Amino acid sequence: MISTSLKLTISSLAICLTLSVSHLRSAAQNIVEPKDTPSDWSKPYAPFCIVGNVYYVGTYDLACYLIVTEKGNILINTGLANSEQIIGDNIKKLGFKLSDTKILLTTQAHYDHMGAMANIKKATGAKVLVNVNDAQVMKDGGSSDYALGNGVKTYAPLNPDGLLRDKALISLGSTRLVMLDHPGHTKGSCSYMLAVKDKAKTYKVLIANMPTIVTDKKFNEVDAYPNIEKDYARTLKAMKALSFDIWLASHANQFNLHQKHKPSAGYNPTAFVDKKGYEKALADLQRAFDKKVLGKPSN
Ligand SMILES: [Zn+2]
Repeated sequence: MISTSLKLTISSLAICLTLSVSHLRSAAQNIVEPKDTPSDWSKPYAPFCIVGNVYYVGTYDLACYLIVTEKGNILINTGLANSEQIIGDNIKKLGFKLSDTKILLTTQAHYDHMGAMANIKKATGAKVLVNVNDAQVMKDGGSSDYALGNGVKTYAPLNPDGLLRDKALISLGSTRLVMLDHPGHTKGSCSYMLAVKDKAKTYKVLIANMPTIVTDKKFNEVDAYPNIEKDYARTLKAMKALSFDIWLASHANQFNLHQKHKPSAGYNPTAFVDKKGYEKALADLQRAFDKKVLGKPSN
């Protein structure tokens, strides 16, 4: 027989549990990933070594890069919220540990690259470094984003541990990355350049944030981002002037990963040497920009 006081304790515990479950649910409900996200973007994808100490650990389309150093690892981009498991499994399949992640970076503070970052930070204690111009949007979970925000969080907010400015150097072990400020897509979109050695040679690797246009509005109607047109123009110019050997990007489809690499293929960094593909992608983006500004393509 259960005593009255024990019954009371059990029922108040039940209320307590109900309250905390509904609290969790409402906290999760505050975060809404856009419904038009293509479902194949976040499908699992087999991880592989791109070149030297740089590995692809992302999903089918949401590129995430693990850079392995003797002092722990750097993870760039984290896909959607539900990509956390896939990224963790991919890192393990390669023989590395998620818990060795020391630095977390993003190429842009949009939900499809930031989704799992807050949880991975919690799990690993890694430091989040962000381009200063994306710091605010990262802190509010994307709700202040000029195009995708509308006051709604699209990913778990997160307080960065450090702010980066153009050409900032990020070092871990013997690896050095340079952050390149490439704004437009978000106010703090950026690319990373690093030198990667393998047994044969040293490659200059560019992890690029391609300046695709997000807003349907005319640039001069984007009140939340008065410099948007100037920023895109500056980014396009800066990106055309970059020199590198290997080109990677925030989305697999932007650098044609699936044409360049089959999951069964062995180590082949030269598959990603593709200056022509990069130039064509930038020329297409320049045309899209010109069309937006002039109302027609410039050529
Ligand atoms: Zn984006």
